Amino acid sequence: MLSRATRDGEEGCRLSRIATVTLPRNRIPNFPDRCVTCGKSGPGSLTRLVAYDLFSGGLIPFTVRVPCCRPCGLRLHAWRLWSSVRALLIAGLAMWLGIAILLPRLPDVTTGLIVLGLISATFMGIAIWDRIFPPAFTVDPRRLTVDYEFRDPKQAAEFARVNGAVQVSPG
Ligand SMILES: [Zn+2]
Repeated sequence: MLSRATRDGEEGCRLSRIATVTLPRNRIPNFPDRCVTCGKSGPGSLTRLVAYDLFSGGLIPFTVRVPCCRPCGLRLHAWRLWSSVRALLIAGLAMWLGIAILLPRLPDVTTGLIVLGLISATFMGIAIWDRIFPPAFTVDPRRLTVDYEFRDPKQAAEFARVNGAVQVSPG
């Protein structure tokens, strides 16, 4: 019953606000001549995105150039910068909490577990938050594939069509 409700949700379902198109990592994607953020056609400029998959791709960067008007490009980069800074801030704050507050009072192992638990819980919270309020466009590279994620399902469908791929809307 739950899965049916989720599938039928479309706009109403909070967790299906991202439309994903997966392509092989070594393939250069074709983009329709449309800003990936606001959807304006003929944006006249490209913006370069660099993304990492820290879990399976190590530190090998994935780079892609996407059509994007200038103001949208700035917003996109600002969001990505904030997203990285936020992760570092959380990790730093949890470490500080562990070293300055918990370690003098608790055994090492307990402190380590609490810090790890805090970091994992916060990152999970962020992942859920980003699903509910996703950026207009993002890339998520994996070892062999790359997920191109669009907030606008129509943009995703167009991107999928020009790349001969299938759009997947999770949910
Ligand atoms: Zn734009």
